[in-house]
Amino acid sequence: MTIDWIQPAKRLSALPPYVFARLDELKARAREQGLDLIDLGMGNPDGPTPEPVVEAATNAIRDAANHGYPPFEGTASFRQAITSWYHRRYGVDLDPEGEALPLLGSKEGLTHLAMAYINPGDTVLAPTPAYPAHFRGPAIAGGQIYHLVLKPENDWLIDLSAIPDTVAERAKALYFNYPNNPTAATAPREFFEDIVAFARKHEILLVHDLCYAELAFDNYHPTSLLEIPGAKDIGVEFHTLSKTYNMAGWRVGFVVGNRHIVQGLRTLKTNLDYGIFAALQTAAETALQLPDVYLHEVQARYRIRRDFMVNGLAALGWEIPKTKATMYLWVPCPPGVSSTDFALSVLQQTGIVVTPGNAFGPGGEGYVRISLIANCDRLGEALDRLRRGEICYEPETAEV
Ligand SMILES: *Cc1c(COP(=O)(O)O)cnc(C)c1O
Repeated sequence: MTIDWIQPAKRLSALPPYVFARLDELKARAREQGLDLIDLGMGNPDGPTPEPVVEAATNAIRDAANHGYPPFEGTASFRQAITSWYHRRYGVDLDPEGEALPLLGSKEGLTHLAMAYINPGDTVLAPTPAYPAHFRGPAIAGGQIYHLVLKPENDWLIDLSAIPDTVAERAKALYFNYPNNPTAATAPREFFEDIVAFARKHEILLVHDLCYAELAFDNYHPTSLLEIPGAKDIGVEFHTLSKTYNMAGWRVGFVVGNRHIVQGLRTLKTNLDYGIFAALQTAAETALQLPDVYLHEVQARYRIRRDFMVNGLAALGWEIPKTKATMYLWVPCPPGVSSTDFALSVLQQTGIVVTPGNAFGPGGEGYVRISLIANCDRLGEALDRLRRGEICYEPETAEV
């Protein structure tokens, strides 16, 4: 019996299939055919969670005090650890009672924030390419996305001057993210000052995703939105433990910033979930308190991989700038080849999984993203296969 009379809600039909889910199917099929896949597709760090964090979690799991529902707003000690970390990193003072909220990963919070603040028909400014939650979240809420197209000639920075005044006037929120996934671009502090001024002028809720706060190299230090005077009046910033601490599976993130906005998200969430298992909040506290030497190790790991891969790809004809942050390389497709076709042909000819740029919205067309989530041995194997598969970059030669 068909059940075509049970139709999903309209908000579901606004969502095309999540590209990473589709990539998973293709990977499964390639594995069935016996291909030894080198998966550089997802932003899923490859190492184990630091031992002190695992140990803290193990001990906390044995404590029955952690076995009940956690407090809705997160444990007091995790919130305190978040605000202390903020003070240490950025010199920004936050109130653990109202300006910090633990999340079940930042993806959850980014999407639910849209549910809490966006009405159907509201205009939301979101870059393209972007991390999908930045435009899918507002789309689920019924928002109208106004795409801010990021371009290489602007170093992948949002061009605020290209936003028409009429659009800025009606915009309710703006999502953005530097260091950037997928382009690996970084934004200077002046850009943050400009975007805060823009959001204040047009009364726009500013949502910054600082997922790659710590994955930066060559003495580059990412800026926090909340370092900018006046930002806390109109903005919030999302963080995750997934990337820096190899904790993607644990589902721990947090949001900080304007207390009314944080409170709105909290009100929604008290009706949806009970927050993070208290034992994992204890573990997350431990992660935020790890000595800096741990961070230096992580940074060195990704920097070495970046150098290895950028140099190796250069030998194959791909000139990719050395990225100052994130765990990604943003690689142009050969001229005239779409990102999906290119990612598919790379997968079929070499068993290497890369993410087609259009997974990040139409602005990602013409590029693929390579995640540096394998060690240099494996990356070397990937370069060998690209060479043998003759997947080299041949820039268009001018017609004579
Ligand atoms: C990986 C990633 C996230 C997801 O973080 P979780 O806390 O694991 O949900 C959020 N934003 C960006 C930009 C990311 O790259």
